[in-house]
Amino acid sequence: MTEEQRRSKKRKRGNRRKEKSVSDRAAAKNNASSSIIASSGSATPTKSSSKSKSSFLDKMKARLSGGYFRMINEKLYTCSGDEALQYFKEDPSLFNVYHSGYQAQMSLWPEQPNDIIIKWIKDRSPSLVVADFGCGDARLARSVKNKVHSFDLVSNDPSVIACDMSNTPLVSSSVDVAVFCLSLMGTNFPSYIQEANRVLKPQGWLLIAEVKSRFDPTTGGADPNNFVEAICELGFSSTSKDFSNKMFILFHFQKKGKQKTRDINWPELKPCLYKRR
Ligand code: SAH
Repeated sequence: MTEEQRRSKKRKRGNRRKEKSVSDRAAAKNNASSSIIASSGSATPTKSSSKSKSSFLDKMKARLSGGYFRMINEKLYTCSGDEALQYFKEDPSLFNVYHSGYQAQMSLWPEQPNDIIIKWIKDRSPSLVVADFGCGDARLARSVKNKVHSFDLVSNDPSVIACDMSNTPLVSSSVDVAVFCLSLMGTNFPSYIQEANRVLKPQGWLLIAEVKSRFDPTTGGADPNNFVEAICELGFSSTSKDFSNKMFILFHFQKKGKQKTRDINWPELKPCLYKRR
């Protein structure tokens, strides 16, 4: 081999190495950006040996999106509603990450509180006007014949109004049923209930489903009686408290009169944090 032939071979080897490192970086970047959103999307394996590699990648992606869900969930339980609105305004894609994690958690629950509330509404007149505070994917509105005003921090559907639910565009005394299904997340949750009180007609219903552990005083949760008492001070009467479900409590109130005291002693509701599985 001549000196010139040797040099040309070396140049070709160098170029091949450069090409490979550029394509490796591109692949790493693609994986990094999709891992934020993807929960279990799978890459198409080209060889049988890449099967185990892709299932490892799937596991890592699921772990990452689980981690993102827990981070967003903790944020929502530890900030006020207007901070949460700002948080999603800055990056609305986080809302979808949150909701895929939320649906995954819900699929582990033997019964969904939303289903019980939907049944309660279906058993009554379709003429009742409903407001769904923190509606998520607005399943309630899709499941009943009633007029439902759906509110959440982000709107992925034209029927959902994006707002902080402590300040909705509803007219005062215009709603028959106000629903909070697992949505009393913000540190200023009393202002959400005060908003529901404003928009409810006299005799209107207030339905609240919340995670049971938030009302377990033995583990730092609120005393459910203090919670009920605070809402009664606002001018409601408590018509039922259902503790029968393993995962959540369901409270029913009816609007009866005027706020009794100016300073209501609201209990603190501890965040509902999910453990890594
Ligand atoms: N009610 C739905 C979704 C529950 S998840 C269901 O039962 O399936 C809780 C929802 O409340 C989330 O979508 C969250 O974005 C919303 N939420 C929390 N704080 C809010 C606020 N201040 N204003 C509007 N929506 C809020």
